[in-house]
Amino acid sequence: MASSFPSTDLIDMRSDTVTRPTEGMLRAMVQAEVGDDVFGDDPTVNRLQTVVAEMLGKEAALFVPSGTMGNQLALRAQTRPGDQIVLEDGAHIYRYEAGAPAALCGLLVTCITAPGGLLDWPQVEAALNPDNVHCAIPAMVSLENTHNQAGGRILPQANVEQIARESHSRGLRVHLDGARLWHAHVATGLSLAELAAPADSVSVCFSKALGAPVGSVLAADAATITKAHRFRKMWGGGMRQAGILAAACLYALDHHLERLAVDHEHARMLASGLDHTGLKVNHPVDTNIVIIDVAGQGRDEALLGHLESRGVLGVGFGPGRVRLIPHLEHEDADIERVVQVLNSFTGAGS
Ligand SMILES: *Cc1c(COP(=O)(O)O)cnc(C)c1O
Repeated sequence: MASSFPSTDLIDMRSDTVTRPTEGMLRAMVQAEVGDDVFGDDPTVNRLQTVVAEMLGKEAALFVPSGTMGNQLALRAQTRPGDQIVLEDGAHIYRYEAGAPAALCGLLVTCITAPGGLLDWPQVEAALNPDNVHCAIPAMVSLENTHNQAGGRILPQANVEQIARESHSRGLRVHLDGARLWHAHVATGLSLAELAAPADSVSVCFSKALGAPVGSVLAADAATITKAHRFRKMWGGGMRQAGILAAACLYALDHHLERLAVDHEHARMLASGLDHTGLKVNHPVDTNIVIIDVAGQGRDEALLGHLESRGVLGVGFGPGRVRLIPHLEHEDADIERVVQVLNSFTGAGS
């Protein structure tokens, strides 16, 4: 509830990562039982790993500081330097992880531009290198659900299943970047385990709409998690009394997961409230992300300035695009105010 957050006139829709811990979450953190997790002694971290592995239907799980680290550990643990990985062009792993597939994993990345970010098997198959001494060895396909760059789109589960089946039959591993898999679960009613089942490894984030301050989990088979654990140490991701953070993640699962439906409704309200002819949402609003296309050169900057001068923050999301994400600090009245501000945009800066 907004009333449990320090009051502010700013409506910050830059990301679902800007959420602050609620009082209830802070209490859970203060009361967490902790130990040294590098020794494997933190009972709260261990509980989170067990709970999340079970929710995702995997053998084991590892708590990590960020979604980026979870994704990169999945790549590093399941491929070898020089291998080929195939993913969609807008994938977070490719776009927004600072070149880590190349720098940390030594991978050759092949990108596929898929309409709406929704990859299907024929596109993947066409991108896989042949079995030929001249070529990098295809080792992994990575999927993203929901797809951030495409506007929080949910991958059709039939696509995920076919891509995984065909990839597995060729000896490839399948990773699922599930930073927002929670949203696909709440929007489709499919369980998290059903959504994750086709993939060998899946990463999930607690620091986004679930509202925890820090933390992600990578889940997979036990052998992959053992390898990932060593790389986590190598990359400096071993944390000590991390139960303070894990407690926030456990609290988020209990209190903030099913309420994501409210964010989805708010995103739909934003998109459907637009009656401004120069602003369009050109993607189906499947979950909590709204990307507004702003017609005309430089008008994305003008729109951001217009919003900011009226107490609303969004982010530029490529030329002519502005992204807004409603999250757990927002109420219906905030959404109505943002719609009004959007509809009053003249294009003349602030
Ligand atoms: C946010 C995000 C991540 C991880 O981001 P971190 O900031 O490293 O936690 C990974 N994948 C997707 C699709 C994301 O949106």
